[in-house]
Order: sequence, then C-alpha cells, then structure tokens
Amino acid sequence: MDDAPAPAAPEAVDPDCLFCLIVSGEIPADIVRETDRTIAFRDISPQAPTHVLVVPRRHYRDLAAVVNFDPALAGVIAQEAVAVARAQGLDDGYRIVVNTGAEAGQTVFHVHAHVLGGRSFAWPPG
Ligand code: 5GP
Ligand code: ZN
Repeated sequence: MDDAPAPAAPEAVDPDCLFCLIVSGEIPADIVRETDRTIAFRDISPQAPTHVLVVPRRHYRDLAAVVNFDPALAGVIAQEAVAVARAQGLDDGYRIVVNTGAEAGQTVFHVHAHVLGGRSFAWPPG
C-alpha cells in the first residue's frame, strides 16, 4: 500500500500574483462578469476586438494544477468562458485559449482562459 501523503494543494491566494490582486480588488480591472468561483475581465492588451480573461478566484498556477487538485473547476472555467462569449455576442465563433507553461506563452501564472472574438483567426496558431 502506498502511504505517501497526497501532495498539498497550493495556497488559495499568492500575495505576489497579479490576478490574485485583481480578484481581491487591489488592482483594478474592467470586469465583465462575476460568479462565486470566477471573475472575467478585459485583457489589458487585447488581441481581438473582444478579449476577456476568465480567472478562478482561487489561485492555481495553470490548468494542470486545476485538473490535479480540483478537476470540477476546469469545467467551471470552461462553462464561464462560453457564458462570456455568449454575453459578448460572439455568435459567429470565438477562440478559447489556455496557455500552459512558458513555452506555450503563459506569462501570468494564475490559470486563466482567454476568450477571443470579433475577428477571424488563423490556424495553426503562432
Ligand atoms: P498569458 O500570456 O499568461 O496566457 O496571458 C496573460 C494575459 O494577461 C496577457 O494577455 C496580458 O495582456 C494580460 N495582462 C497582463 N497584465 C494585466 C493587467 O494588469 N490587467 C489585465 N486586465 N490584463 C493583464
Ligand atoms: Zn493568483
């Protein structure tokens, strides 16, 4: 039998994390939707006419950590990303992106889903 303790879940808040500071209201953001578990706010450097970030209130560094410690939250983030797209009127399509790890372009290590729309998108992504 494996008696190794389960790895401890990360702290709920990282005092050095930009998105934790947005969740707490210490750094302002243009919030478009809020739920008990998530907030959604406009990206400061939009890459499309609509560019909203969906962020869980609890700090996890990336999607892999969410799946590891609270897999249901991954569904909550996806559900909220689709709700944002609907609320923003992105009826012709949209792109949901979760950059995971520095090589994939993640720069803020508090998991977030980008909801992008209002223009057409190329594939493959850059
Ligand atoms: P990542 O590169 O980690 O996938 O996405 C991080 C996103 O956060 C970037 O698109 C960047 O423009 C956005 N961002 C960085 N700092 C701020 C900020 O202070 N406020 C807002 N609203 N977005 C930010
Ligand atoms: Zn955080």
